[in-house]
Amino acid sequence: MPTTEQRKPDSEPAPGHAASQDASLQHVQVHVTGTVQGVGFRPFVFRLACQHGLAGAVHNNTQGVFVHAQGAEERVRAFVRALREQAPPAARIDALRVTPLPLASFGEFRILPSEVQGDTFTQVPADLALCADCRREMEDARDRRFRYPFTNCTACGPRFTIIRALPYDRPLTTMQPFAMCDACRAEYVNPADRRFHAQPVACPQCGPTLRLLRWTGEAWRDTARDNDALAEVSVAIQSGGIALVQGLGGFHLACDAYDDSVVRELRRRKRRDERPFALMFPSEAALRESCDVSAEEWEALASPRAPIVLLRRRASSTIAASVAPGNPLLGAMLPYTPLHVLLLDRCGRALVMTSANLSDEPICYEVEDALARMAGIADVALVHDRAIHMFADDSVVRVAGGVPRVWRRSRGYVPQPIHVARPFRRQTLAFGPQLKSTFCLGKRNLALLSQHLGDMDGELAVEAHRRALRHYLRLFDARIELAACDLHPDYATTRLAETWCEKHEVPLVRVQHHHAHLAACLAENGASEQAIGLCLDGTGFGTDGTIWGGEVLIGDARAFTRAAHLQVVPMLGGKHAAREPWRMAVAWLHAAFGDEMPALSLPLLDRIRKDLGEDALQTLLSPGLHARVFPRTSSMGRLFDAVAALTFFGTRSQHEGQAAMLLEGKMSAAPEEPYPLEIVQHGEAWILSPIPMFRALVADLRRRVPAASISRRFHEGIVGVLARVCGILRDSAGLHTVALSGGCFQNAFLLTELVRDLESKGFRVLTHRDVPAGDGGVALGQAVVASMQTE
Ligand code: ZN
Ligand code: ZN
Ligand code: FE
Repeated sequence: MPTTEQRKPDSEPAPGHAASQDASLQHVQVHVTGTVQGVGFRPFVFRLACQHGLAGAVHNNTQGVFVHAQGAEERVRAFVRALREQAPPAARIDALRVTPLPLASFGEFRILPSEVQGDTFTQVPADLALCADCRREMEDARDRRFRYPFTNCTACGPRFTIIRALPYDRPLTTMQPFAMCDACRAEYVNPADRRFHAQPVACPQCGPTLRLLRWTGEAWRDTARDNDALAEVSVAIQSGGIALVQGLGGFHLACDAYDDSVVRELRRRKRRDERPFALMFPSEAALRESCDVSAEEWEALASPRAPIVLLRRRASSTIAASVAPGNPLLGAMLPYTPLHVLLLDRCGRALVMTSANLSDEPICYEVEDALARMAGIADVALVHDRAIHMFADDSVVRVAGGVPRVWRRSRGYVPQPIHVARPFRRQTLAFGPQLKSTFCLGKRNLALLSQHLGDMDGELAVEAHRRALRHYLRLFDARIELAACDLHPDYATTRLAETWCEKHEVPLVRVQHHHAHLAACLAENGASEQAIGLCLDGTGFGTDGTIWGGEVLIGDARAFTRAAHLQVVPMLGGKHAAREPWRMAVAWLHAAFGDEMPALSLPLLDRIRKDLGEDALQTLLSPGLHARVFPRTSSMGRLFDAVAALTFFGTRSQHEGQAAMLLEGKMSAAPEEPYPLEIVQHGEAWILSPIPMFRALVADLRRRVPAASISRRFHEGIVGVLARVCGILRDSAGLHTVALSGGCFQNAFLLTELVRDLESKGFRVLTHRDVPAGDGGVALGQAVVASMQTE
């Protein structure tokens, strides 16, 4: 039997594999780097070495996995080839270096213990979707884990969400209360087994169990367990009920995705606006029936990270319209835990699977809290006793230009570190922005971006931020020496940072929002040169006290100048402008037409008068109010909102970015003449003025040009003016690198067309992939800027 006790490769000659002068024998060291920890890599190496009849050992430390393999030359070669080709699905090999060594004396192949002095930042693996081997066992009636909803192995299962402390070992996870049965223990200690040191290993004899509760109108009543619980919950869903389901990183609310009335009811109970609900499909076939799926999209869906992937909805799809009202995209995922597989199999159809929360509150992840908060919202609750220690929402990915881009980086991704080219001199903590917040810990060349924490508008969200931060600081044994936050004085995260820094006597650097976007993009791409940063989003506090968002910066992580920006207009209605796009349409029409504006004959103006009254316009535009009360903004997001309101959105209210997103979806596929946007010099800076565009757009509206064509002309106009301003700055400042960041780059057309245009002009274009382009990536930029500015 192979054993695992520590033994140096060159000690204790073993009779069977004594060193020999045989020329056909070879000894190599293989050094593997990449994502090779916590994904079942060492047991994989062990099995492979045994298959190839090799002697040697495998161990890992912070530098990666090291394999010593000795045996017949052709077998060693085959082994190295198989290492690369057959690696576990969750592993990602960045480099594999083979070094020949003198022959040594080995016993049988061994797994040596990990070196524990390593870096805590790399020791917590992300949660992994159910692997193919475990799925096969679950579906095999003769297997002892047949239909067991908590099946896992070293290649799959919960990690980050169940770890309380390091080292990653069962007693320090939420599996601690479950004592392994003999059969599970035998697997756990056997290096030849797929479950060798799989910390959450479990089976029906010894592991977690399911139970079903039913809401009686006054209390939750326990009604069924295990397979009966699954049967009952699927019946409840099939008959139009809403179920609370405990998942991997939190609770979902689930219902039939094809039943419009239950989806509407879910929206009503959850007090949710028109934001799309995510879907979980039972099979590839069901998914392809409703969505167009490219090869890259399928790869992302089926990957061990198993994110929500945004897919184009097929016209023939019978998914309820209320799942994603007016939206051409559907957020789809595949079942990623054994529990989800069983549930979806039983229901036999796609389910809405949306985070269990009320409107903007954080996701529920503790059983008692979930049952209390979701009482009366869910009809039944499927819960279990493997506690979720740390929440993690589903991650969201969209493929643009053939590349998967992470919009929301959470379950399956966190807490995998991002490697930065320029090391942090001091351990740095960035508190993140206000919306779609994350925080970031930086140490040496590693940046840990937290899971998605949501909008910091309510006390529950702020508490979730505090809680996650406390957990990270303890788990990773962080010793913070420097902190960063946003420049905005009133952000909840700014106040958290101020309090924390005072208490811990740590210096705090305030970072401008769009500078952080630029720095995040440079850091993700390992770039340190001066660049042009196109930082386009909805809102960020500017150094001049106005609200920025259409920014062309020049600089690096250390410093920036505002080289150009979108023309500034009053943000009519202040904070209401983001929710009510018609307000920005009025602002821009007024900027373009002045006092003639109220007399224009336009469908939007008619709608405003009809829906809101003549006074609404007059009040907004009264000269005194106009100049004094409303903040001024250069926001690109609000410009997209304005155009959407004019062309099709009318006076409806939106969730942030919804109108802009629908505008992209409406765009005609055929190229059109771009709208004219002007670039005018204003002191040191260039102003991008859409005034001529609005005049042309209004003329188009009067000629009843379809919204699809207007949207296309608008998008092309924006791409054109941004590419032109980059050309101007290249000539004047000699810069050849452009970094694209900010939430507007979730717009796939804007992103891909701008990349194409700029590259055709010889620019080096940097975009986001693993770090969100939106505010989920801002904390990384804050950390990098603070670090550079204090070097
Ligand atoms: Zn597995
Ligand atoms: Zn067991
Ligand atoms: Fe932003």
